[in-house]
Amino acid sequence: MKIYDNHTHLNDKPFAGKEADYVARARDLEVVGMNCVGQDPEMNLGALRLARQFPNVKAIIGYCPDVAKDYDQAAEDLLVEQAQDDQVVAIGEIGLDYYWDESPRDVQRAVFARQLEVARDLHLPVNIHTRDAFEDCYRILKEANLEYGAVLHSYNGGPEWTEKFLGLDDVTLSFSGVVSFKNAKEVHESAKMVPLDRFMVETDAPYLTPVPHRGHQNEPGYVRYVAQAVADLKGISLAEAAQAAFENTMRVYGLNAEEF
Ligand SMILES: [Zn+2]
Repeated sequence: MKIYDNHTHLNDKPFAGKEADYVARARDLEVVGMNCVGQDPEMNLGALRLARQFPNVKAIIGYCPDVAKDYDQAAEDLLVEQAQDDQVVAIGEIGLDYYWDESPRDVQRAVFARQLEVARDLHLPVNIHTRDAFEDCYRILKEANLEYGAVLHSYNGGPEWTEKFLGLDDVTLSFSGVVSFKNAKEVHESAKMVPLDRFMVETDAPYLTPVPHRGHQNEPGYVRYVAQAVADLKGISLAEAAQAAFENTMRVYGLNAEEF
C-alpha cells in the first residue's frame, strides 16, 4: 500500500532538526511520500530545502492569504524563479482567509488570482487554502483558466459546495484530519459523495491531528488515519481509499508512481 500526504508543513518549527525522523516514521505507516507546503518566503525556502534533501518529499511554494499584503513584483519574480526547480510540484498554499483577515480582502483576491495566472504560465497545478470564503473562492476559480488543476486543501465544505466545486473541471478535494472528527457531519457527507478520482488525503501537520491521535501534535505519517476515515465513510478498504488518493496525487502533480 502507498499512502501520500498531499499537504504537510514539515518545514514548520515543531519538526526542525527532526525531519528525517518524521519521514522515517511516516514510512513505517506506509506513507511513502509527501508535499511540503510553503506559505511565505521563509516557509517556501524550507520546503525547497527539504525537497532537495529527501527524494520522497516534494515542494509546494506560494504566498498564502496572510502575507498577500507583501506580494509585489519582487516577490513574484522570486516565486517564478524558485518554481523552476524540478522539486516544485505546485504553487500554494494560495487562496482566501476571511476568518483571520490578515490582509485586506481585495488584496487577498487579487493576489490569489495573480498566482493562479503565475501557476498556469508555469504549467503547474495549485494548492488552495480557503476559510470562510467559499463564495469568492468558487467565483475566482470559475473565472480562472484551470488547465493544470487545483486542489482544495483541508476541504471542509458540505454537500452543496462539494457539488459546486466538483462541477469545475480539474478541481480535486483534499481531506485532512477534520474528516475523522465525529462532529464534522457536513465533511462526512462530502467524503461519501466525492468520486474516487476527485479526492486526496493530507495532514496539514502540525495542525488538525486526526483521530485517534487528536490532542497531540500531528505529523505526516498520520495521513494514514485520514485515509482510514475516508475509507470508513465510503465503505471501502483503507487500501482502496489510499490507492485512489495516491493515483489522483500522481496525476494532478505529474509525479511518477515508481518514484515512491
Ligand atoms: Zn497548510
